[in-house]
Amino acid sequence: MDTMLQYAKDMDQHDQMSTFKSEFYLPENQIYMDGNSLGLMSKRSEKTLTQIISSWREKGIDGWTEGEEPWFTYPEKLSERVAKVVGARGNEVMVTGSITVNIHQMLSTLFHPTPERSVIVVDELNFPSDIYAVESHLKLRGLDPSVSMRKVKSNDGYTLTLEAIKETLTDDVAILMLPSVLYRSGQLLDLKKITEMAHAKGILVGFDLAHSAGAVPHQLHNDEVDFAIWCHYKYMNSGPGGTGGLFIHERHHHELPGLAGWFGSDKSKQFDMSHAFSKAEGAGAYQIGTPNLFSTAPLSGSVELFEEAGMEAIRNKSLALTQYLRDLVKMQLNDFGFADVTPIADEARGGHIALAHPEAARICKALKQANVVPDFRAPDIIRLAPISFYSSFMDVWEMVQRLKKIMEEESYKTFTNERNVVA
Ligand SMILES: *Cc1c(COP(=O)(O)O)cnc(C)c1O
Repeated sequence: MDTMLQYAKDMDQHDQMSTFKSEFYLPENQIYMDGNSLGLMSKRSEKTLTQIISSWREKGIDGWTEGEEPWFTYPEKLSERVAKVVGARGNEVMVTGSITVNIHQMLSTLFHPTPERSVIVVDELNFPSDIYAVESHLKLRGLDPSVSMRKVKSNDGYTLTLEAIKETLTDDVAILMLPSVLYRSGQLLDLKKITEMAHAKGILVGFDLAHSAGAVPHQLHNDEVDFAIWCHYKYMNSGPGGTGGLFIHERHHHELPGLAGWFGSDKSKQFDMSHAFSKAEGAGAYQIGTPNLFSTAPLSGSVELFEEAGMEAIRNKSLALTQYLRDLVKMQLNDFGFADVTPIADEARGGHIALAHPEAARICKALKQANVVPDFRAPDIIRLAPISFYSSFMDVWEMVQRLKKIMEEESYKTFTNERNVVA
């Protein structure tokens, strides 16, 4: 038997996390490699969502204060648990908003431009929403983005170097905001080193953890990161539009929220209905309005699974899966023009492998027809994310066999090489 196939069987047999697969609803006969865009639904999430629906049905308005998990403090209690997943203290994380809204909130709160320091550094490979948020925020402050937004340049179009980041950190920079894992190539940046580098220059640092929260262990508090934002619908399986998360280091908790609202109040004073804002003590201060409880509840069930598995086991399996995937691509798909653009070292890659190919859009359509769910990112990237909770090594093997067949038979040529509306 092929030694690579035998390897998959052995790894699955000794997989400590294999029991988690039955916790998820896996579409039948499908190999799902898109958990980095939208994680699958778990039975636990279904349960916690159902619980909150029942509490509305049974209690009406009293659900805010009564029952096992009163809605008034539900997001705060959940945030303390999420904090452990990202290496933060309980009061430094808030489950609220979305990535984009939370960027606006963190910039509104922590960006204090002066004539000498008014630049926000981002990178030229970042996700558009982050860029739109920074640009529009600068305009609201009366600043010109073409002057006050600077982008770290990429040498290869896929990754960023520490040197290139360092070069941008001149004395006029107030904030550096980068992704932890780049959404296309899957490069994982060194958060600790970058934070040290920026702090040495008096610059605040924020990270977008969209592609690392729930995939890569973090030490946000100990690494002294100033702020972070992320979503829970990718690796954390909280469902479409699931409420996002923000981290603000406790040394900044004296800051008044730039975008204030009554849910940022000290809970004991919120219903005094005073026009004088009494700020909550921790990250809760940066909430704005009434929490979206139905979009928050699935996360509670999902976090249980993270508590049971532990981030270390999740990361170890993820690294083994992605390594196996890229080894297979190298051995079995060598003739078909795929370029593996994800960094090689374990400490430099997140949870997915990115294959660049000029026919990527239609290869993804052919994969979909072959019951594999990949993820396409324009112009030429196929992202494949085997997920520790619900992907097996045999899934990776089988996915590569289907891809190989597509390439050998050139069946992708029956599709147009254009992306779908939602890719
Ligand atoms: C997924 C993703 C987003 C999406 O932002 P939302 O506000 O949650 O819609 C933003 N930035 C990055 C880097 C992402 O990967």
